[in-house]
Amino acid sequence: MSSEKLAARRRGVGSGLAFVVSGPSGAGKNTAINRLIAETPSLVYSASHTTRAPRPGEKDGVDYHFVAKDEFARMVERGEFIEHVVYLGDQYGTSKGEMARLAALGLDVVLNIDVVGAQTLRRTGVPGTRLAFVFFAPPSLDRLGERLRARGSESEAAIAERLRVAAREIETLASFDYLVINDTIETAVRELGAIVAAERLRVVA
Ligand code: 5GP
Repeated sequence: MSSEKLAARRRGVGSGLAFVVSGPSGAGKNTAINRLIAETPSLVYSASHTTRAPRPGEKDGVDYHFVAKDEFARMVERGEFIEHVVYLGDQYGTSKGEMARLAALGLDVVLNIDVVGAQTLRRTGVPGTRLAFVFFAPPSLDRLGERLRARGSESEAAIAERLRVAAREIETLASFDYLVINDTIETAVRELGAIVAAERLRVVA
């Protein structure tokens, strides 16, 4: 077998891979994903659509596509989402168009979605895309509480609600392929990188 043929037996880069990263909000997922993408060739972030207001520093079209409720509802009606959820009163969705656009550019993508969305994708799949499911966890719920308070963007009541949601989210762990625990950001990014590398090295039939 020629070396080209042998190399083609690996899944490779830009072969329609999507890394679905889920887990409690505030666990450091965004920071870890941003660093992973900065150091991984041909891997990009697929920004979701949301009706929530931008937090300080968040950019439209980069962190999220921030849209009004009626615009989000129109997109739902037109069937433009692969999946969408209501999370703590705001709507979030992964658009088909964004995924298709990035795949056509030969890029693998990272989706940052909640566990309900991840379970939907696990069930339905995404045509032409190979999904790898990663649960990104804080070292403990106590540490998660500390991180949410340090972020300073939410009230105590909102933080308590996020911790309750986080406890429920951790119970869905068995439906994921990989577990990354964010003890230190360096280790978490290295482990995410190892998952990307392993998935790209998988043998294809
Ligand atoms: P945050 O408001 O903290 O940015 O996000 C809240 C939660 O919504 C996070 O767990 C995040 O992963 C999730 N989320 C963001 N975009 C999407 C999406 O398109 N679909 C789903 N199902 N969840 C999302």
